[in-house]
Amino acid sequence: MNDKKLHPESLMMSYGYNPEWSEGAIKCPIFQTSTFVFKTAEEGKAFFEVAYGKREQRPNEKLGLIYSRINNPDLEILENRLTLWDGAEDCAVFESGMSAISTVMLEFLKPGDSILYSSPLYGGTEHFLQHVLTQFGINIIRFKTGQSRDEIIGIINKSGHADHLKMIYIETPANPTLDLIDISCCKEIANHFSTKGKEVVLAVDNTYFGPLWQHPLDHGADIILYSATKYIGGHSDVIAGAVLGSSAVIKRIKTLRTFLGNMAGPWTGWLLLRSLETLKPRMETQARNAKHVAEFLAHHPKIERVNYLGFLSEKDPVQFNVYKKQCLSPGAMLSFEVIGGEKEAFLFLNNLKLIKLAVSLGSTESLAEHPATMTHVDIDEAEKIELHITSKLVRLSIGVEHYEDLIADIAQALEHIQIETDIFDLTSEEIEAL
Ligand SMILES: *Cc1c(COP(=O)(O)O)cnc(C)c1O
Repeated sequence: MNDKKLHPESLMMSYGYNPEWSEGAIKCPIFQTSTFVFKTAEEGKAFFEVAYGKREQRPNEKLGLIYSRINNPDLEILENRLTLWDGAEDCAVFESGMSAISTVMLEFLKPGDSILYSSPLYGGTEHFLQHVLTQFGINIIRFKTGQSRDEIIGIINKSGHADHLKMIYIETPANPTLDLIDISCCKEIANHFSTKGKEVVLAVDNTYFGPLWQHPLDHGADIILYSATKYIGGHSDVIAGAVLGSSAVIKRIKTLRTFLGNMAGPWTGWLLLRSLETLKPRMETQARNAKHVAEFLAHHPKIERVNYLGFLSEKDPVQFNVYKKQCLSPGAMLSFEVIGGEKEAFLFLNNLKLIKLAVSLGSTESLAEHPATMTHVDIDEAEKIELHITSKLVRLSIGVEHYEDLIADIAQALEHIQIETDIFDLTSEEIEAL
């Protein structure tokens, strides 16, 4: 049987690991070691020659492990398994999503270069772009979800930095509104600004949808980034990140990772190997639950608007076409506006019992948060309005609980909005009588 022909979910328990390496242990142990013993000095010399690029690996030459900052079995096996979902040539894992993102940007951008990115972005990423990269002489150019190909090309040309454009960086679906960005259209824009000596690379943060529901490499992306803290880890117990792409791209990223020293440790690697075994059943259950929850919310009288990709239709042909082209599921994230404002949104959040009030997403437990004052607090007020991040907006990440329990919890929390609002509507005599 050719391993690559099997479905990824069939390979998550075994791919890349041989029980003979570890006394027959069916699971890959945690290789909690900093360094590895060479059989001979000649072997150590050979490993270093290749690791440091002094020469190419010879055909049939077997290389061994050197030091856990360069590689470690838990990381290598995890990286090999992660490639299967997105059909990537190689992968590099990191101790956080932010270390994956910042390492990619530092490797591909040099002083004088510019980067075009979609807004809104994950807050940490936007901060790194605006406050860190700019200190190193990198120009940042922004476009907003909903802008067309020609509008985006116009923004780049007008910036005065088109000649130095090196990277397009996008996040789709956008958080928390689920606006979609057309990946293949961004690739066309990257090609438009690429020249003989300068390739513009397209990087996609696929955290919200991956690795099951969207495969950016199939649509022209060069680099996929993940906060593995979210769906990949999936249990709210580990912070990690991953980058996927061609062997050539990942080789550059792994080299910089070796010197920044921000690779994931063996324990993180092992936790993620364990998480990957249930990735598909978890994400499928989450998506199924999200559909039920979204349908409930859509018909609730105290809810004004629900953002859920399963509700896209021909009525919004631009977004619907992007959805059909690149999304394989509506996913398990949604957001909605309660009738009222921050007060009503907080009443809802404070009265949830099963769903936890916390940021982050993609985990087995359902989470709720208030983007305007939490994850997106850094965005200035005028822009929040433009991006539809209102004070009445609540974001939900749906977990694997029974959907009826989730709906019951949401229903009872929404009832509190009415009780409190009604009190304000009552006359003082009526309140006395309560
Ligand atoms: C959480 C998140 C990140 C950052 O990842 P960490 O693992 O917290 O460092 C980046 N992008 C998106 C879309 C995220 O949700």
